Amino acid sequence: MSNILLYAEVTRENFLHTVLFELAYKAQELAQKLDKAEVSAFLICKTGLAAEYKEAFINSAFDNVYIAEDDSLENYSTELYSKIALDIIKEVKPDIILVGATTQGRDLAPRISSSLHTGLTADCTGLDINEKGQLAATRPTFGGKLMATILCKTLPQMATVRPKVFKPAPENIVKDTKFVYFKPDIENIKTKVEFVEFVKGMNTCINELDSAQIIVAGGRGMKNEAGFELLKNFAESIGGCVGASRGAVEMGLAPVDIQIGQTGKTVTPKLYIACGISGAIQHIVGMQESDKIIAINNDEKAPIFEVCDCGYVGDVFEVLPRLINEFKAE
Ligand SMILES: Cc1cc2nc3c(=O)[nH]c(=O)nc-3n(C[C@H](O)[C@H](O)[C@H](O)COP(=O)(O)OP(=O)(O)OC[C@H]3O[C@@H](n4cnc5c(N)ncnc54)[C@H](O)[C@@H]3O)c2cc1C
Repeated sequence: MSNILLYAEVTRENFLHTVLFELAYKAQELAQKLDKAEVSAFLICKTGLAAEYKEAFINSAFDNVYIAEDDSLENYSTELYSKIALDIIKEVKPDIILVGATTQGRDLAPRISSSLHTGLTADCTGLDINEKGQLAATRPTFGGKLMATILCKTLPQMATVRPKVFKPAPENIVKDTKFVYFKPDIENIKTKVEFVEFVKGMNTCINELDSAQIIVAGGRGMKNEAGFELLKNFAESIGGCVGASRGAVEMGLAPVDIQIGQTGKTVTPKLYIACGISGAIQHIVGMQESDKIIAINNDEKAPIFEVCDCGYVGDVFEVLPRLINEFKAE
């Protein structure tokens, strides 16, 4: 029997990261293409926390959940978490391991794959099972100009997927989930890294970009700091979060944490307003699933106009002040 194992990441606010539910629904689809595959998750957290998530696992069609709890596991530690993950994997022997491409997942997954001498396809945008029953993991390559489907020759086959690439199940799929507790074997591990303090980013919106309903993103066309200040005022006037293209990040106008696109975040807000962004494919892949896209650009031939629902050909420095006044007046 094949097994698919998912990493259940716990956020700093002690929630299960939403990428787990996106992967769970996709894993169900993959499991149907494999003969009697089970979909399981592994959870590493501080003592007592797992009980809070049981219902979420049951409602997300997991067959098994492997839990390792300990007070020393409150904060993510590469060394402790990867040791426990490897112990669980050796016991469960999954054929496929899926991990969210979050900051934590991007640290944990390569540690696991290198220890197991297996392959890992990072930042996938598509997952499927081919006619031979192998995981076919698709991701952009050559700077986003080509999509490559990658097969792994060794087991387990591993992939990371960014949040918001897949959709969660539209409704609960209830299963008779089995919960299996693992005693973490970490007493003798001397970690080289000590957790001191968690410092939140300066821009509070950064952490909310993933779940923002409205995003106002600026590109090189915003030109300078004053331009980005204007963009922030506009975002504030409509209750949106600020995002940026890599062009703007490279100009030093925005921090890399709010970069949207292939090498930044993937976002799916209800409304995405692109200001002074040309619409390079590497940017588009990070925002194209937004419900409605509005573009403001002074070049009518800018590629962003091909993906937007509504476009305005004009100068952002004329349009945005007018919009701010309109929204503030309302
Ligand atoms: C491997 C790789 C990964 C990448 N990853 C990303 C990524 O994650 N995210 C990303 O965004 N990019 C990424 N890029 C870069 C991408 O290819 C583009 O270079 C980048 O998106 C361009 O940013 P931009 O649209 O802000 O700048 P530009 O392409 O320079 O566009 C600026 C736009 O502003 C318009 N403009 C200028 N002045 C005004 C004005 N006054 N009013 C209105 N419009 C105006 C111009 O007409 C132009 O269309 C990546 C590239 C590579 C090779």
